[in-house]
Amino acid sequence: MEYSILAKSFEKMESTRKRLELTQYLVELFEKTPQDVISKITYLLQGKLRPDFEGIELGVAEKLAIRAISKSSGIAIKKIEEEYNKRGDLGHAAAIILEQKTQTTFLVESITVERVYETLFKIARLEGLRSQDMKIKYISSLLNDASTLEATYILKILLGTLRLGVAENTVMDALAIAYSGNKENRKMLEYAYNVSTDLGKVAEVIATDGIKGIEEFKIELFNPIRPMLADRVKSEEEVMEKMGNEFAIEYKLDGERVQIHIEGEKIELFSRSLEKISSYYPDIIEKIPKIIQAENAILEAEIVAINENTGDFLPFQELMHRRRKYKIEKAVTEYPITVNFFDVLYCNGKNCIELSYIERRRKLEKIVKENEFAKYIPMTIAKTKNKIEEFFENSINAGSEGLMLKMLDKPYQAGSRGSHWLKLKREYRNELGDSLDLVVIGGFFGKGRRTGSYGTLLLSTYDENTDTFPSICKVGTGFTDESLDQLYQILNPKITIKKNPRINSEMEADVWFEPELVIEVVASEITLSPIHKVAQDEIRKNAGLALRFPKFTGKIRVEKMAEDASTDEEVISLYKGQNKAARDKNLIE
Ligand code: ATP
Repeated sequence: MEYSILAKSFEKMESTRKRLELTQYLVELFEKTPQDVISKITYLLQGKLRPDFEGIELGVAEKLAIRAISKSSGIAIKKIEEEYNKRGDLGHAAAIILEQKTQTTFLVESITVERVYETLFKIARLEGLRSQDMKIKYISSLLNDASTLEATYILKILLGTLRLGVAENTVMDALAIAYSGNKENRKMLEYAYNVSTDLGKVAEVIATDGIKGIEEFKIELFNPIRPMLADRVKSEEEVMEKMGNEFAIEYKLDGERVQIHIEGEKIELFSRSLEKISSYYPDIIEKIPKIIQAENAILEAEIVAINENTGDFLPFQELMHRRRKYKIEKAVTEYPITVNFFDVLYCNGKNCIELSYIERRRKLEKIVKENEFAKYIPMTIAKTKNKIEEFFENSINAGSEGLMLKMLDKPYQAGSRGSHWLKLKREYRNELGDSLDLVVIGGFFGKGRRTGSYGTLLLSTYDENTDTFPSICKVGTGFTDESLDQLYQILNPKITIKKNPRINSEMEADVWFEPELVIEVVASEITLSPIHKVAQDEIRKNAGLALRFPKFTGKIRVEKMAEDASTDEEVISLYKGQNKAARDKNLIE
């Protein structure tokens, strides 16, 4: 398939933010796409080469791309940098530069999607000493044969700056229309995506076998399932209103969620955001296969750090010490853990997500043989408010964050946050103490004691509608010397020369970061703001929302991706809730 077809589609898609138009452009693209390239196109549309859980990253830095453009065009690096500073986007700058190309190429090979994809894949796989030079060679050879439009979109993919604004749902709408003629079939595609986390695979199945293939779509081992998530509630009363007569209550442990895929001795661990995390937990890899009484299974558990002497649960931060590349064995003995199982999604070749909660829990208790290292999360069945209160106290005393409440007769809803699971945390019980998970987008250099670190950070939420990161506040309190140091180490490699175009901020930071790191913050209040961009114009024209007196809680949420951060909708609902509470209080007083 000619790459120019894809580049032209990218150009059209970039020119609109309207979902209907985007869908239409996608349908037109899919109609021109042969079956054997559909999965590649689907990944490229999202700026990827494979589904995220495979961990294949292009990782090409701006500097390297500039060298490749220079090699291909014969134009000096300095000139390219100047053009880039003017345009703010290296893809578009490259188009201008390549127009002025001083080197002429004679043998022009036409560029196909397959060739671009294979070359990008090779670049992603390169490692070691000579990898930089090889990358430059591969990129410049593509640029040599590319038209300016093609070059623009090759570079955008390479640099991770292709932002078409096509959410997964829009891609699924278009797939349903293109291959089944009916947008309503999106629901079935969603199911397939939720149990595979692989949109390329879903596209390939519908393109090859039509909607029948999607109806027969199966869960596969070692292919992660998108997690079911919970709605927050603030009180026991709210639980009683929403849960009905009888429901399950479990401890909400403060650790790292893990999805364990296991068959015989083969085992893989996926985090909440479905990254592979097996290398951090060699103790789980060694011990868990021995206690699973099934041929194969997909299980969910919370990994929690413990005090070895007392067995008490320790807070989430302790697990951070396990996130390292080297000296893992030392960390295993210094920071012991337990694995606390709470669900089973697949067992002995059979899908379990359609089973009710209570059936799954019974199955779980048959499959996992408990011992010192592996346990079931404590659970009880409740009918009354008193029972919730009692279990809540017990859970807090045992070192957990609060409770998870689960409907007994409901299946596992992969990939959705809904009311079949609720969470009641200790902090949700006081009016404004709600925590938010925010993305670090910028930094301000520290002074005095904080010289050599970022004394203050600029934070954002995630706006799902526009796929951007609008600023919400600066935070400069709650940091210890240790956490400042740790954040500095994590954030330094994320510095960018230019602000990522997905960042929406009027405030200027000393340095901009790739929007990737999520930290937890509490605040005293949410207020209208003329500077910050969250929920811009939603509550009042020319105003956004901001946090008042924000404070870092000490939790770096390494298990969350930037797209899992608190959303604008969540902030709006907290803002409205807080105002309602204030009004109610005034009425009572
Ligand atoms: P949070 O920030 O509250 O951890 P989240 O967005 O990661 O939320 P939610 O589904 O909203 O995910 O809350 C449930 C989280 O709590 C899970 O992701 C999991 O890590 C953790 N957890 C602890 N105990 C349980 C349990 N018994 N059942 C399910 N999840 C649990």
